[in-house]
Amino acid sequence: MATSPFHVAIVGGGITGLALAISLHRRGVSFTIYEQAAAFGEIGAGVGMHANAVRAMKICDAGLLAGFERVATRNAWASKADVWFDVLDGTAAEPASEPEKLAPLFTLIGHEDGHAACHRARFLEEMVPLLPAGSAQFGKRLLSVDGDGTEVDGDGPLTLVFEDGTTAQADAVLGCDGIKSRTRAVLVAAHGKDNGKSNDDRAAIDEAKPTYSHKFVYRGLIPMADAVAVLGEERSANAMLWMGPDRHALTFPVNHGQTLNLVAFVTTPAPWPSHDAQQLVLPATRDDALRDFAGFGPNVLGLLGKAAPQMDRWGLFDLAEHPLPQFYRGRVCLVGDAAHASTPHHGAGAGMCIEDVAVLAELMGAVKSTGELPAAFAAFDASRRGRDQWLVASSRRAADLYEWRARGRDFEAIADEVRARQAFIWDIDLDEAMAKAKEDLARRLAL
Ligand code: FAD
Repeated sequence: MATSPFHVAIVGGGITGLALAISLHRRGVSFTIYEQAAAFGEIGAGVGMHANAVRAMKICDAGLLAGFERVATRNAWASKADVWFDVLDGTAAEPASEPEKLAPLFTLIGHEDGHAACHRARFLEEMVPLLPAGSAQFGKRLLSVDGDGTEVDGDGPLTLVFEDGTTAQADAVLGCDGIKSRTRAVLVAAHGKDNGKSNDDRAAIDEAKPTYSHKFVYRGLIPMADAVAVLGEERSANAMLWMGPDRHALTFPVNHGQTLNLVAFVTTPAPWPSHDAQQLVLPATRDDALRDFAGFGPNVLGLLGKAAPQMDRWGLFDLAEHPLPQFYRGRVCLVGDAAHASTPHHGAGAGMCIEDVAVLAELMGAVKSTGELPAAFAAFDASRRGRDQWLVASSRRAADLYEWRARGRDFEAIADEVRARQAFIWDIDLDEAMAKAKEDLARRLAL
């Protein structure tokens, strides 16, 4: 039952938007989700969640955590329970005398938990029933807030303008609209005007744009029996990372071990072929992937050979070159990929989105009036921006480590650096971060 004296618009119903809606619902905050698609939907691929993300889900909502646990798959072997990834040389062949005995170069031990992953669509199916009836509207593609960037600073209700010609009003707008966020463009336009820039909408969108990291990825879901035929039992049932020059691949079980998730990364100097990055996903074939991984060993090539003949490739874009100076303005606030889209080399982008949600929901749950919302968003920004933007930069570095560009083939140095970076992600004390954010909010409200 919503008890808040304000109503918020959540733009976008991906992992961030839905987790935020569920978390606000539990805290009595009134909201409507506006999603551009005709229904909630996630891609057919896996997503890994680290211990920090699982802890954040617990703060968000007990039902969200329970839903994730119902669909989560962990390493199957007890001996691998705390392993995040065994890291192998993807270019190597098995020793001739001992098939399936290629030894890991090093092992990354997850803190508290090894590797929890799920099929994205299954997680979404767990989240949707946790929403109150009638809280989402579909076919609502946001174009602008109040028509241009300036009025986001006013005191009155905010007007959302949608592509279908309709409008809606809310006391605050939470932009959860992902990597190509339109809400981000609204904020950047308003910020640009402060700095004397013209109100040219196109220029504002350009400044808010993610850029190509010169990496793309082939993603595949491989039936477990096929995976076992290539990798053997141990390496199919547990998470593996296959390193190589300018390429690397991840494999981990999803769907309670029925399917192996394959994520195969390629670095290239070539530009992304879709004009103006209109399309982040382009069609490709298994043969393209096999050609790109020429020089890899029989494990990675064997798995790619088991992928479907028609594959997609995903351009990896991020906000590393355009970090936002602020995640909010007035009563408009960006959350999740809209604020800090990252490449996925720490496997932690969605986890950071869930951390965002936990902090923002707690702050908004503590707010007593519309006028207090900007203070909550300021406290959210102060709590989250440094960590979220660190991930964006560090993720690029992680790919350079795995692909032997940053430290060559010095595997000890690679292991040490990756471990330190992962520890920063895993070891956050969320209770402490939350307490500090709430103190910060109290201080701002007392001013
Ligand atoms: P999105 O999932 O992009 O959702 C945005 C929603 O907003 C969509 O429903 C969209 O339709 C809607 N929308 C967009 N524009 C508008 C508009 N104008 N009006 C209305 N609605 C709109 N993270 C991990 O933690 N672990 C992993 O293992 C992992 N693997 C990854 C692998 C790859 C290859 C990639 C690319 C990313 C990976 N990530 C991973 C990152 C993770 O996928 C993202 O961080 C996460 O999905 C972002 O969720 P979101 O809800 O913020 O954005």
